[in-house]
Amino acid sequence: MEQLSSIEAWRNYANDQRAFGHAVALVPTMGALHDGHASLFRAARASGDVVIATIFVNPRQFGSAADLKSYPRTPHEDAVVAKENGVDCLVEPSLEEMWPDYPNSTSTTVSVHGIGDSLEGADRPGHFDGVASVVAKLFAVTGPCHAYFGEKDFQQLAVVRQMVRDLALPVEIIGCPIVRDPDGLAISSRNGQLSANGREQALAISRALRAVDAPATPSTLRRRMREVLEDAHVQTAYVEIVQPTTFVVAHDGDEGEFRALIAGIVEGVRLIDNAPVTLSSREA
Ligand code: AMP
Repeated sequence: MEQLSSIEAWRNYANDQRAFGHAVALVPTMGALHDGHASLFRAARASGDVVIATIFVNPRQFGSAADLKSYPRTPHEDAVVAKENGVDCLVEPSLEEMWPDYPNSTSTTVSVHGIGDSLEGADRPGHFDGVASVVAKLFAVTGPCHAYFGEKDFQQLAVVRQMVRDLALPVEIIGCPIVRDPDGLAISSRNGQLSANGREQALAISRALRAVDAPATPSTLRRRMREVLEDAHVQTAYVEIVQPTTFVVAHDGDEGEFRALIAGIVEGVRLIDNAPVTLSSREA
């Protein structure tokens, strides 16, 4: 596995691969790699592409300096996970090259309005501007590629898809399913911050999503999810059902395939999860 850090070397690597006739896959991450990330590496590998993974803890998408500081960093373990799961080239760009003006603000920002304004975007002002801006830069350096993202961050996936469509970026986005621990908890780099009790409490989030697997109206489905979460005393930032590409909130009378999304806060740790739901205008 190749390991690079400079933008020039990374751009040359991708250009060379395409010149050899290989398709390039890009898997952006913030490191602290786990089975969720590994599943993206394996999906990219299985497609036959040359796999470039990036690790960059992007300060522009964090709301507070404390959250940024406490974000887990495990560079040595990450290199092993990347190598074992089929990554050909691991890129860890420096902050100086990614955001040369940091900690001063960067003049250029990519904003995806509409999709990026609600839910995570409303609770974490500037978060999706930071995400869209860094992903645009990762795409600009990598060039034409297939880019793999997890459905775990479902709103992020929708924001990135919209950005690619609006700017005609030469990138095909591939969404991959959520990887869960055997108890149902969606795997996240933040799960390690939970105590044993906190983890038990956090299971209510995936339980709430499993409780809405039968078609019903959005009001009924939201109520069912809230009941499960309230029973477990899980504080929530939102419990919502949206149209999966536009993120328009579902109303009673809507029918078809939508997405239920939950953000819970357990022991001060923000946990997000989501699942497909079918809306019916009649109750089950
Ligand atoms: P992060 O390092 O948290 O920025 O995540 C990097 C990529 O891995 C994003 O596309 C995430 O959606 C994806 N990812 C994180 N956790 C999971 C998971 N449990 N299942 C699937 N994809 C995930």
